Order: sequence, then C-alpha cells, then structure tokens
Amino acid sequence: MPGCDCAVCASIDPCDQRTRCSALVSWRGKSILIDASTDLRQQALRENIRRIDAVLFTHTHADHLHGIDDLRPFNRHHDGPIPVYASAMAENHLRRVFPYIFCAGDGEGYRPELSLNTFDGPFEVCGLPITPVLLQHGRGEAYGFRFGPFAYLTDCSGLPDSSRELLRGISTLVIDGLRWRPHTTHFNIPEAVACANSLGIKRVILTHLNHEVAHRRDSQRLPEGVEFAYDGQVIEVK
Ligand SMILES: [Zn+2]
Ligand SMILES: [Zn+2]
Ligand SMILES: [Zn+2]
Repeated sequence: MPGCDCAVCASIDPCDQRTRCSALVSWRGKSILIDASTDLRQQALRENIRRIDAVLFTHTHADHLHGIDDLRPFNRHHDGPIPVYASAMAENHLRRVFPYIFCAGDGEGYRPELSLNTFDGPFEVCGLPITPVLLQHGRGEAYGFRFGPFAYLTDCSGLPDSSRELLRGISTLVIDGLRWRPHTTHFNIPEAVACANSLGIKRVILTHLNHEVAHRRDSQRLPEGVEFAYDGQVIEVK
C-alpha cells in the first residue's frame, strides 16, 4: 500500500510483494485471462505473457477491470478482436464506462480491439468448458469460474446455495480471504476456510490478501490443506 511502512509493505519476501488479483488459465496452448487488473501490464511483463486468447471478467470493480487498455498489445498476436466475457450487468457497465472500446462508431484510436460476450450459464472458451458461479460481494455480486476440478472465486463475502451445487466435486479452490479481521465485502480468512471446508475441498489457496497478512509468518496459522497465494504462483490442475 503506497505510503505504508508496516511489516508486510516493508517486507523483502517476494511473497509479500503483491499486485492486484488476477489469474491466467493455460489450456492446450491457449491463454484465458481472468480480469484485467490495474497491474496487468506489470504482470504481463513479469510473467512474460505472450498471448491472451480470451478474457473473463469476475465483476467491474476498478482493481479488476481498469487495466483493460493494456490488452492492446495482445491484439498484435491475435487474429481479430479478443473475445471478452462478462455477466449482463457487467456488460452494461463496460459499455457505459468504456464507450471508446465497446461502442461502435466511436472512431479509431488507441484502444484494444475486444468483442464483448455475455454469459448466462455454462459456456466454452477455446474448447474449455467454463461454469460461472454467482458470488455475493458485499451488497453487490461477482462471478467466480469453475474449470473442471478447479474453481477461482475472488471478491466474495457469501456463496449462494445455488452456487454451492455448481462447485460439487472440485479438488482445488482459489478463494478470496482478504485478511484475518472481518470485512463487509470480502471473506476474511476464517470465513474462506469455513466455506472451503463446507465444500470438502482438498487444496485451498487464499487470494486477494491485503497488507495485514504476512505470507511466511501467517502461513503457520493456516490449517492443513490451506495456503496463501502469491504473485507468479503456478497451480497445475489435473
Ligand atoms: Zn502496509
Ligand atoms: Zn470487488
Ligand atoms: Zn477486488
């Protein structure tokens, strides 16, 4: 956090040096990005990401969306516009907030070429079946995504019963666990762990951590099967 001198912000442990929450799903040579974080450019350079074949949006909070202009260089490695997928509510927001990208007739210029698709149930991207999972995010909503035995659920403070059904049988879960103390729009760590336990998940990875969580120190407080995510982490799912 800019201007903060706490132990985590001052930490030299690379696992404590966190950029915004995002993920890249690699599948049969294709790359599907989840969210265009405000740190997308830095993340793409750091991880040497060469191509992005599609983008899934979880919701429209700025930290997950406002790196959208940095999708532009990826058009060079893609035939035609890059497809992006969002809920109907998020689609509305995207058209309103980024008319120069999504509204035809707004002229040429410095913008990424993206084609906007909405989901309303399971869909396929690059041949990969994806199930959107509705999440409660404070008084708003966000979507998580399930890919086979893996699900990525960021920005959530509650899991509706209907979504619980969609997560049956997964073995690896990335889930929002902001910090130890409660928060109004995010699960805290005990809530995230309880949610994962109620789903019977083997490997639980907490993400969207803030600077109240020290990777090494606080890892000792986590139950077995639960770990903290870190920038650049690679998770293999079979
Ligand atoms: Zn701090
Ligand atoms: Zn959010
Ligand atoms: Zn967020």
